[in-house]
Amino acid sequence: MIRVQIIACTLAAAQTRALNRESGRIYSATLVQHYRLFRQAGHVWLSPMKHDRVLKACCGPSFLHAHSYQAAQQDFYEACKTAKALKPTNPLARYPYKRKYYHTTTWKNTGITVVDGRMRLALARGHEPIWVTLPEHLATLPGTAFRQVQLVYSHATKRSCWHITIEDGIVPQPTPHTGIMAVDLGEIHPAACTNGAQATIISCRALRANAQHRNKKTADLQELIARCKPGSRRWKKLVASRKRLQAQTETKQRDMLHKISHAVVQEAQDMQAGTIVMGDVRDVADNTKTNKRLNRENRQKISNWPHGQLRQYVTYKAAAVGIRTALINEAYTSKTCPICGQRNKPKGRNYSCSACGYVGHRDNVGSTNILSKRTTGKLAQLVPCEAIKYRHPVRRASVVRSDKRHVAGASQNPHLVLLSVNDGRAGLEESPRL
Ligand SMILES: [Zn+2]
Repeated sequence: MIRVQIIACTLAAAQTRALNRESGRIYSATLVQHYRLFRQAGHVWLSPMKHDRVLKACCGPSFLHAHSYQAAQQDFYEACKTAKALKPTNPLARYPYKRKYYHTTTWKNTGITVVDGRMRLALARGHEPIWVTLPEHLATLPGTAFRQVQLVYSHATKRSCWHITIEDGIVPQPTPHTGIMAVDLGEIHPAACTNGAQATIISCRALRANAQHRNKKTADLQELIARCKPGSRRWKKLVASRKRLQAQTETKQRDMLHKISHAVVQEAQDMQAGTIVMGDVRDVADNTKTNKRLNRENRQKISNWPHGQLRQYVTYKAAAVGIRTALINEAYTSKTCPICGQRNKPKGRNYSCSACGYVGHRDNVGSTNILSKRTTGKLAQLVPCEAIKYRHPVRRASVVRSDKRHVAGASQNPHLVLLSVNDGRAGLEESPRL
């Protein structure tokens, strides 16, 4: 399986800057030369192969490895390809035209060797190579496993890191289990899982809080930016902090989604599932601006919901352990009563049926109906599990503190509350219907 591992870069900042600056120089020189040739040839788009030699001459000698040099040039043509593919559908797409001061440096497998748990990244002849100490789990891999290395600068941390592409040679074996686990993706509880006999709700309030924090802070900054003169010193400072804020929240969100998807796959393994069936929420969660079925506040909540990213993470993590994934149309799965089939509009976290009086957890009803639809082809054929296990893959200090206060008089172990069957907070919040 091919995977990308991200590890911290311990090189001096001056050295990482020099490397990415050089890549930026080659990228920009390629861009300039490409458009120059384009004009000279009478606006004929030449293929990169045709003027490879001309490009080499225009970018001049470099201290980068020959293939890192080539990679920077190829990135320009990759960007052209992307623009061309986007053009028919996106009128805003345009061919790359900006010169880059910095550009990510790439080492191809020809420039990478591994010696005694250390990775050697080659530079041009006559220049000392770069040595990177590998973490334990990578140090034992053979040199051929390393396909590509990139030196990526993060605006969030203001540091660089190595993105190492690895082919570990492990072919995932399909799991012998044949069970089916249904997952209801939700905006409050990111995932509710059930196989009919067990039910787990994966909870992560911090995911939505993180997005709300970003929205609020961005709006505040936006207001300040609007009051400044564009290009002024203060304007530049504010724009930079907006960029940093967005990068930081994105990093946090990615971390949480990795933890949530990991928990989903672990649940599938615990429930001995061979297939994970997820509700397809793209119809309800995408294009909220054109399809205004919710009010403004709830539209913002829904459009901040990273369901696609979560689905993608679950899919690849499941594939790594041999579990298949499938999508199913989730229409009415969270509305239909699992006992009598009546459609109700759930309020808050609880589902209660006006026809038969059934009361249960809303997300559990959703996942049970998805399972019912997958196994029988119809909704409301299975009874939801009574006992629900709650799982919190992301722990926040503040959550533990507030729960400690909550049970102080009850002389209980605070962790019991966190892991309890039902945390007793169901139905407290109003939330968009999903
Ligand atoms: Zn009912």
